[in-house]
Amino acid sequence: MSRTPFVAGNWKMHKTIAEAEEFITGLLPLAGAIDDVQIGVCVPFTAIQAVVDSTRGSSIEVYAQNVHAAEKGAYTGEISIAMLDELEVHGVVVGHSERRQLFNETDADLRAKVPALLAAGLTPIFCVGETDAQREGDETEAVLRTQVTEGLADVADEDLAKVTIAYEPVWAIGTGKVASPQQAQDACAFIRSLVADRSAAAAEAVRIQYGGSVKPDNAQELLALPDVDGALVGGAALEPQNFAAIVQAARA
Ligand code: PEP
Repeated sequence: MSRTPFVAGNWKMHKTIAEAEEFITGLLPLAGAIDDVQIGVCVPFTAIQAVVDSTRGSSIEVYAQNVHAAEKGAYTGEISIAMLDELEVHGVVVGHSERRQLFNETDADLRAKVPALLAAGLTPIFCVGETDAQREGDETEAVLRTQVTEGLADVADEDLAKVTIAYEPVWAIGTGKVASPQQAQDACAFIRSLVADRSAAAAEAVRIQYGGSVKPDNAQELLALPDVDGALVGGAALEPQNFAAIVQAARA
């Protein structure tokens, strides 16, 4: 089965509304009509409305970078799924290692967030990945097993393929230290086998992105790997030319 590649740019805490609009103005002529790669930008809350408006009618999808699982309530500073849905986002990045490490997002939080997003018709980009110490300690598969099993525990088998999984080794994020093709392929194949333990059909269909220091000059090699179906890109997604070059590298 051929899976449509999915390249998403995670802006993290970068870009004011004006900067976000400038980025989209630069990206649209380069990638706005590409239809053989799914393209997303993961935008800070404050710029979501502007980016949804400026990408309307193009093939660029808009994602948020966090969400709370509860429907509403006394959660000062949090944003609900309904609030994001109202802005017409396509989905939300959840479980990014920065949120896990700096803001204590847990597997239990993700277990609630992922099915809640799916119930609202939004796409979760669900991030998993091991730290340097865990890789050195030969714990990569155990860590991925725990994160995938717990984070997706309350997703119905028939809905698993609606999740995009991003394999992001923590040691490769923002470090310039990209995973080798073998490391990326092995981890993504392992994640797919975990999905296959629940549903062979979902494992065939689910998209698994690689993330961690993807750049225009290493993207093609990574994106050609059999179990890598796209990329989640941080630093190189802040500038339209670089991001568009990575999207181009994902084309068949
Ligand atoms: C990320 O933020 O998810 C990421 C992979 O960052 P970078 O591409 O900068 O390593």
